Formats: sequence, structure tokens, C-alpha cells
Amino acid sequence: MQPPLPASSTQYAQQLRQGFRWLRFGGALEAEYRAYCGRNEHRRVLWFSAICLVVWGGYSLFDLWRIDVALLDVRQQALLMSLRAVRVAVTAVIVLTLACALWRCPMRVLQAVLIVLGVTLSCGAAFAVYVYKVLGAPHETAVLVMVMLGVFSPFAVSLWVQLLVALLYLACVGALAWAAPLPEVRAQMLRLEVVLALSALVFGFAAYWREHQRREQFLYRGDAHWLAMRDALTGLYNRRMFNHHIGQLVAQAQREGQPLALLLMDVDYFKSYNDSHGHQQGDVVLQQVAQVVLACIGRPLDLVARVGGEEFAVLLYGSSAEHAQALGQSLVAGVRQRALPHAASPVAQVVTVSVGGAMLSPQDQPRTLYARADRMLYEAKNGGRDRCCWAQTLQA
Ligand code: GH3
Ligand code: MG
Ligand code: MG
Repeated sequence: MQPPLPASSTQYAQQLRQGFRWLRFGGALEAEYRAYCGRNEHRRVLWFSAICLVVWGGYSLFDLWRIDVALLDVRQQALLMSLRAVRVAVTAVIVLTLACALWRCPMRVLQAVLIVLGVTLSCGAAFAVYVYKVLGAPHETAVLVMVMLGVFSPFAVSLWVQLLVALLYLACVGALAWAAPLPEVRAQMLRLEVVLALSALVFGFAAYWREHQRREQFLYRGDAHWLAMRDALTGLYNRRMFNHHIGQLVAQAQREGQPLALLLMDVDYFKSYNDSHGHQQGDVVLQQVAQVVLACIGRPLDLVARVGGEEFAVLLYGSSAEHAQALGQSLVAGVRQRALPHAASPVAQVVTVSVGGAMLSPQDQPRTLYARADRMLYEAKNGGRDRCCWAQTLQA
């Protein structure tokens, strides 16, 4: 349930220190970031494609009544027909994107469809402007800059993919300039190409910083979240998380009829340890003890927390009483085997721990389970420390 990370440096803080100028995190963090960005992505893409449909559909309908086909020659009519075919194709891609978002298709499919949408919509818009220029029909070239802004919208795909789409868009405008039959249309398309290249630079730069900031916020948020749940010295869960989990696990175990064991562990004569070895060395001991506990538990639902100065708690979900008792013994033996010298302990020459344990009963509440384990811990202390005592009854 909790990887033994060094408490003082979370993976988020490490990544913040390393930086991420190429907008990529190392290891599993990148996948976590993508999953974080992917939340609600379908809904955003749904709205985005719906807006595209309204704008593109409106633009296409406007086209139908403003150009009188009867006034065009055969070549012009053929050009207009190919524009209408392009309009239908782009509309189909928008509808496909809409359907993909609506039916929550897998993220990879959604990304692929968005890339196709980016390329077809931008090239389709460029082709429409080109056709109007050739036909001498009134048109608004600024609409292509708006399309470039759409290419850099923060949806589903990375900035590098957006840049690729922008390059394909520019290549398409360049190809149309090259294919233009009239020199003035070619000159206009080339001017458009320059404006679009500059707008790609501006929007791309803005998109870079937007993503950089989004990643930075993700790291700060992840770091703060991690630190809020963990104990800074050992990296284990802290008391707050323990309280949260014990409530949840008690309810779950009672609902599902599963056993639940609680073990409380306390370092023996730790005040004397600090007094004779120094507080800093005491901190090292607490870290070592935490490592022993982490090494002893191993199942995904097992949970260990530092619940006080030198007190630790272990929750074993679905564990039999025999297994839990054996684990209590191995905690005691494990700390002893670390052989951490303790000059001031009346019990041994090394650091030792006492453990008290109890199993959950059907009537228990988190408070009563804790009280029973705590009583066992005091029994272990009174019995001479360096041992594990186990509650024989299930009653509080
Ligand atoms: P017992 O055997 O009965 O458990 O006695 P004890 O001395 O271990 O218990 P006591 O409650 O008297 O003292 C606990 C000590 O733990 C006191 C405190 O200075 C020390 N302590 C608490 N938190 C920390 C910490 O974060 N670092 C260090 N080094 N010491 C701590
Ligand atoms: Mg104590
Ligand atoms: Mg103690």
C-alpha cells in the first residue's frame, strides 16, 4: 500500500528539482500525469467538437446560399464541388470525434481521432479560403488564424503532437499557394502562410508555458498531497491517514466478514536512547524501525503508520490471528536483529520494541479495537518489554 520512499524527498519534489523543459517526466510520473490530465477529458472534447460542429456547420451552410453556382464556369463549379466534398468529410470527422467523446472510447483512440480532426479541419479551412480566393468570392482569411488557435487548444494531445498538426497545416497552405492558378492568389496564400507561421509561433509558445505550468502545478499538488498523508521522518502514513484508514477498514471488514488485525508497536526506553545517543541518532533509529516494519508486511492491503513519536501501528486486512501474531513476533525479532546499540536500555544492549495486538470483533468500533491493542502493548511493557502480547478475547 505504500512504497518505502525517502520521506524528505518525494518523486514530485525530485522532478521539480530536475526540471522538465521538454515537457516530460521521468518514469511512472509521466503516466500519473497523463491519467490526471485525462480526467474529464471526454467531456472537454465533447464540448470542443460540439463547438467545432456549430462553427464549421454554420460556415458550410453560409457557403451554400451565398455562391450562385449558375454564375460559375465549369472549372469553377468543379472546384466548388470539391470544396463541398471537403466540407462533408470534415463534418464527418467532427461527428466522429463527438461520438468518440460521447461513448467514452479509449484515450488512445480519442487522441488519434483528435489528430485527424486537427489535420482535416485546418487543411479543410485553408482549402475553403483558397477556393474563395480563386472564385473571387468575399472571404475572411482571419478565420485561419482562429483555426491555428484551435490547433493549440489544451485537449488530450501533447504539445509536440499539436506542433506536428500545425506543421501539416502550414504545409497544406504552402501546397495551395504553389498550386494557385493566379499569381495574385499565390501571393495572397504566401502572405497567409507567413501570418499563420507567426501565429503558430505565438500560440505554440503560449501552449508551451500553459503545459509547463500545468505540469508544475501537478508536481506541487502531488508533493503537498503526499506530505499531508505521510510522516516526514519515516515516509510512513501519518496519524491522520491511519485514523482515516482504520475507520474504512473496520467498516469494510465487518461488512465483508473479513478478519482485521491491529498491532501497536512502541520503541523501548526511547527517551533514554535520545538522552544517551542524541536526538539525531534517535531519528535514525526511527527510520530503521520503519524499514523493519515495511520489510515485515508485504500484502497490498497491509498498512503501516507512525502514530506517535516512537509508536507505530500496523493494520492487517484479511489476515488470520495466527498470521498477525507471527508478524508481531517477527517485528520484535526484526528490530532486535538490526542490532542498533542502545547503551541506556535495561532490557538489552540493542534497541528493542514492544508490540500489542488485537483482532477485530463484530461489535468493535475503531476506538475499541485500538484500546484493546493498546492494553496489550502496556501488558508487553509491564511484562518486561522486547515482546509481543496478544489479546486473548475479542471483547473490549
Ligand atoms: P517506554 O519504554 O515505556 O516506551 O519508554 P520511552 O522512553 O520509550 O517512552 P516515553 O514516552 O517516555 O518517551 C518517548 C520519547 O520519544 C520521548 C521523545 O523525546 C522521543 N521522541 C518522540 N518523537 C521523536 C522523534 O521524532 N525523534 C526522536 N529522536 N525522538 C522522539
Ligand atoms: Mg510511547
Ligand atoms: Mg517507548
